[in-house]
Amino acid sequence: MVLHIRRAGDISGQQLGALMLENVRSRGGSLRAARVVAIERGVDFVLTLRERDGIESVRAGIVVNAAGPYVGDIAAMLGESLPILNVVQQKIAFADHEGAIDRNMPFSIDLDRQLIDWTDEERSSLREDTATRWLTEPMPGAIHCRPDGGEQGQWIKLGWAYNRAASQPTEEPATDPNFPEIVLRGASRLNPGLKRYYGRLPRQMRHYGGFYTMTEENWPLIGPMRTRRAYVAGALSGFGTMGACAAGALCAAWVRETARPAFASALSLARYEDKVLMRQLLDGADTGVL
Ligand SMILES: Cc1cc2nc3c(=O)[nH]c(=O)nc-3n(C[C@H](O)[C@H](O)[C@H](O)COP(=O)(O)OP(=O)(O)OC[C@H]3O[C@@H](n4cnc5c(N)ncnc54)[C@H](O)[C@@H]3O)c2cc1C
Repeated sequence: MVLHIRRAGDISGQQLGALMLENVRSRGGSLRAARVVAIERGVDFVLTLRERDGIESVRAGIVVNAAGPYVGDIAAMLGESLPILNVVQQKIAFADHEGAIDRNMPFSIDLDRQLIDWTDEERSSLREDTATRWLTEPMPGAIHCRPDGGEQGQWIKLGWAYNRAASQPTEEPATDPNFPEIVLRGASRLNPGLKRYYGRLPRQMRHYGGFYTMTEENWPLIGPMRTRRAYVAGALSGFGTMGACAAGALCAAWVRETARPAFASALSLARYEDKVLMRQLLDGADTGVL
């Protein structure tokens, strides 16, 4: 089964961040680049900040924990724990000089499980080694491919979030040098034109990785924490760029105590009190990791 997603426009995560920051500044807000290393709870919160030239503290009436892979660390500073895990995932992007992918193709996700398209020789050598045997066994679906940079561009992006092993967050997670060929083979099932890159991906290819911070059920955490006047906007898994505006708006509605959509509670920590919902989510066949 294939899922096609049509997008209204093209904006990168970085551009989106810059746009939001511009908006915050135009309303009197400011950005302070510092690492929160401790939080004291009292009438207000007192945050200890590590900055380039030393340590400072800042008083805050409200804390919004949006620390990405480090949401768990900020929660710990508040004496709480969050039901999250961090899992490394990777993507590649390269200029499709061979025109394997139609520039008008929407963001396409191959939802079916698959066996990777190795030659008989490759398959048997991968099977021999216990470290690589898994690559010859059925792989999860949700491999995705999309043209990047509009109709005039040449770049394409491929991703496959098959890793399920949680790890501690680090600033620069290691990527697997075999990933580019693995994702290429996997994506070729839906887009056979990509086979022309087997064993010869362009040298200028970008291979990058980072953490998907997620809950077991792969739903985000947006809303109040247990500590009064502390909120979380995190566990955005592989959909945090797409969902950034909606996540921010929902969190702001919690903070300002304004009207919230009916699903707001289900996206907050409150869902763990709803045993029926949690059972449905955890018993579901697929948590939709993308
Ligand atoms: C390889 C890869 C590809 C992806 N592709 C897509 C995609 O195509 N579309 C999509 O929608 N999503 C994608 N995602 C997911 C998306 O990147 C995340 O969901 C999103 O970045 C999460 O946003 P966030 O604000 O929660 O965390 P982050 O973007 O990680 O931001 C957290 C911020 O908190 C700061 N911080 C952390 N700890 C502290 C501290 N102690 N003190 C002060 N600041 C702190 C960090 O410096 C950072 O600025 C991808 C992820 C990966 C890894």
